[in-house]
Amino acid sequence: MTGHVLEFLGETKLELGPVGEADGNWRSARDENDVLWLVLDRVGSSVNTISEDVIRDLDAIVAKAEAEMPKALVIRSAKTAGFAAGADISSFSEMSDVGAADLLRQAHDVLDRIESLSCPTICVVHGAALGAGFEIALSCDYRIATPGASFGFPEVQLGLHPGLGGTFRLPALIGPTDAMTMMLTGKTAHTKRAKSQGIVDAVVEERHVAAAVEAAARGEIERQRPGLTSRAFGLEQARSLAARQMRSQTEKKAPKEHYPASYALIDLWEKHGDDRDAMRAGEIESFADLLGTETSKNLRRVFFLQQSLKEAGRGEDGIAHVHVIGAGAMGAEIAAMAAIKGKSLTLGDVETAPLGKAVRTAAKICEDKHLSGTEMRDALDRLMPDPKGYGLARADLVIEAASETLEVKHKIFADLKGKLKEGAILATNTSSLSIAKLAQAAPDPSRFAGLHFFNPVSRVDLVEVVAGPDTRDEVAQSLAAFCGSIGKLPALVRDYPGFVVNRTLVPYMLEAMVLMDEGLSKEVIDTAALRFGMPMGPVTLADQVGLDIGLHVAETLQGSLDTPMPAISDDLRQKVEAGHLGKKSGKGFYDWSEGSPHPSADLEGAPDDLTDRLILPMLNACVEVLRQGIARNADQVDAAMIFATGWAPFRGGPLHYAKARGIDEVTARLRALSDAHGPRFAPDPGWGDLG
Ligand code: NAD
Repeated sequence: MTGHVLEFLGETKLELGPVGEADGNWRSARDENDVLWLVLDRVGSSVNTISEDVIRDLDAIVAKAEAEMPKALVIRSAKTAGFAAGADISSFSEMSDVGAADLLRQAHDVLDRIESLSCPTICVVHGAALGAGFEIALSCDYRIATPGASFGFPEVQLGLHPGLGGTFRLPALIGPTDAMTMMLTGKTAHTKRAKSQGIVDAVVEERHVAAAVEAAARGEIERQRPGLTSRAFGLEQARSLAARQMRSQTEKKAPKEHYPASYALIDLWEKHGDDRDAMRAGEIESFADLLGTETSKNLRRVFFLQQSLKEAGRGEDGIAHVHVIGAGAMGAEIAAMAAIKGKSLTLGDVETAPLGKAVRTAAKICEDKHLSGTEMRDALDRLMPDPKGYGLARADLVIEAASETLEVKHKIFADLKGKLKEGAILATNTSSLSIAKLAQAAPDPSRFAGLHFFNPVSRVDLVEVVAGPDTRDEVAQSLAAFCGSIGKLPALVRDYPGFVVNRTLVPYMLEAMVLMDEGLSKEVIDTAALRFGMPMGPVTLADQVGLDIGLHVAETLQGSLDTPMPAISDDLRQKVEAGHLGKKSGKGFYDWSEGSPHPSADLEGAPDDLTDRLILPMLNACVEVLRQGIARNADQVDAAMIFATGWAPFRGGPLHYAKARGIDEVTARLRALSDAHGPRFAPDPGWGDLG
């Protein structure tokens, strides 16, 4: 094999020798200063993940380093995508079969040996170092980051905690309080925060990496030391007190019966936080146990569902310029997200005030997404308010996000005739109108589709790409690729009242209102849904969506579906008439003037069938959209519900939950509810096909 010159972002150049047999996923080279560079370059992937063979290959290289000790050892990544995205999750189920604890012990051993090398060890990180990638970085003496680097332990999102030494190395580095917060929340520390917390010792531009490495090798970079507080937690009593607080904080977000990993981590630290060897042994055992839990299996399933939506969004979209019509709540955020991701954007509205507000919204989103000053300036430069619609003529994609009436939208489409460039796609963000009816006014129905973003666009990943009767496949595919290119997850579905997600959510919210009419308090109803694992109770959700919007969607669905729905409550209509629209007006069912409601009620005495009355109609609607051929398959429905609504992820999605609970059990329960409360609960005829 020939030598290989590795370039990092066109700056640091490193001449790597022939790739040795043993190197596998690592490229290694000793430079003229006798510094050994280990460059992770996972075979056959554009992203580094840490698998069993990556560790095995590392083991062999570390053994060589132990035999011929270099002056310093540097670990970094060859991938432009970043350092490492974490462990290879696809290997987890196999791992739990073959004895995860043994594999983990072997991997720990390799990292321990890196830590014990007598030469300075330096990890250089660009992009994200997550999970096991972060743990490799933590086994080094120094971490040097380039701007944009980030560090985190997302394991809790998979029903796990760190398993390769993170539970004791991070607390030792930055103190237990910050470390436990990072591990329990799964939040990422971006470069600046990572530096101030002491995760990284230096932040340098790529062109200064070589000099920084030399300085570290000479011991000239000062290493961060945890402060006094971390010593205080050497005492068991102090840890117990802190652990209690952590448990009660965690309980608010992730109840123990649904998310055991966080509690396992707190227990581990409380018990062994002052004893590294015991932490190590406990971490391995606990991680191996968690791998086998239903929660972790379901959350890993959710990860793969996300991958499949990402897959649907791959490919070239052929869309450089986007024109958005309507700069309200949705249009502004759609425009911002597309501009941030590099699209050139023009944004029109019949009013001027929304345009100014849209630019401010975009700036706020840039800040929330931790964009650097230059990135933010570039994104805002790409977003041009365009009240006269000059951008229409050069747009590859026009997204209509104006008011939700057929008349307004038909008029807008009629005005577009003759103004769009050849081959342009027209999409509507309607949440409840029929794509087929809207298509009647579109300049070219074959190049027209729904592109249903969710509110807030900057935080909800799912977008329903809704094909109308004449939409060409390649148009739907371009729209899916457009979603992928702006960091969204597309679900390619067909036209149907409420599409997949709103069709499923509306009965959840309406049933809550029926229950309120029956005399149940909103807090009891919301608490029941939260206990099931929904991110938000149905009453809070209705307020959040906006009662006017909810009412409109519910009326549209009632008017166009054959299936019976819960009646729309008078209370809802009265609230809308009185202008009590929910969060946006400060008052709906809840009073939002003091912030978001946090309902928590005693469920003692609540009806036994309360939770099923809220949840099972959603499952029934999911079966209906499958039977009607609106969604492609059960996994797509589950993915859409999880990534649009946050539907109890630890249950693996509504249809997965139905299967786990037992189809016969669920349909019998629906029949009983139908007998007790009315035909809106009657099981859909499609249940038999779900198998
Ligand atoms: P909005 O009322 O906040 O904004 C609509 C904007 O469109 C306003 O700024 C208005 O001035 C402008 N507008 C009206 N007529 C226009 C015209 N002829 N040309 C150009 N601009 C015009 O509404 P929104 O909540 O942003 O909703 C927009 C669309 O997105 C609707 O179709 C809605 O159903 C859909 N949607 C809304 C949500 C949500 O939760 N708000 C979620 C998904 C989809």
